[in-house]
Amino acid sequence: MARPVLALLAATVRLPYAAAIRAGAKPIENRGKPIAERHIGQPIAIHAAAQWSKMGESDMRIRRWWWGPERAATHPFDATLFSNMFRKVVAVATVAGCHEAVWPLNEDLTCCQPFGDRRYGPRGEPAWHIELDDIASLDVPVGPVRGWLNIPWTLPEDITRQVVEQVPDYFARFEQAGTAAR
Ligand SMILES: [Zn+2]
Repeated sequence: MARPVLALLAATVRLPYAAAIRAGAKPIENRGKPIAERHIGQPIAIHAAAQWSKMGESDMRIRRWWWGPERAATHPFDATLFSNMFRKVVAVATVAGCHEAVWPLNEDLTCCQPFGDRRYGPRGEPAWHIELDDIASLDVPVGPVRGWLNIPWTLPEDITRQVVEQVPDYFARFEQAGTAAR
């Protein structure tokens, strides 16, 4: 019998990027620091931040994902499209790996395109690419719950329980391996 998952780790990501991860369209999350080695291979909940990303709003990669290439530049794109997701857990993923962005001479050849950024944050330091795999979207986003910028943080138990209820099979392999987040 599978043991219950008592606590699930989470990453808070601003919308619209969190929605693109949920849809499986953006398997790379850019950060200024690597995620700790022990979290590689483990499940992580994708939590949508309270704050909308203005950068994401004008990001043509995201607009192309949402509207398709023909309409990306001309169709309206704003936070109202994602109003059911703010401050909620929207998906579960597995942390497949983490590496520092490669810096070839040609900036367009940075790894993990199109979503792997070369630089991160206002000071433009080298980005770290957190690789997400096996993404399962939650039909009904769970929450609201307060998010945190550091990756990862631990979801409250009641939120974890509601997430696990929606995708129970997702956690079976971690429980069998005795490595469920707790
Ligand atoms: Zn990369």
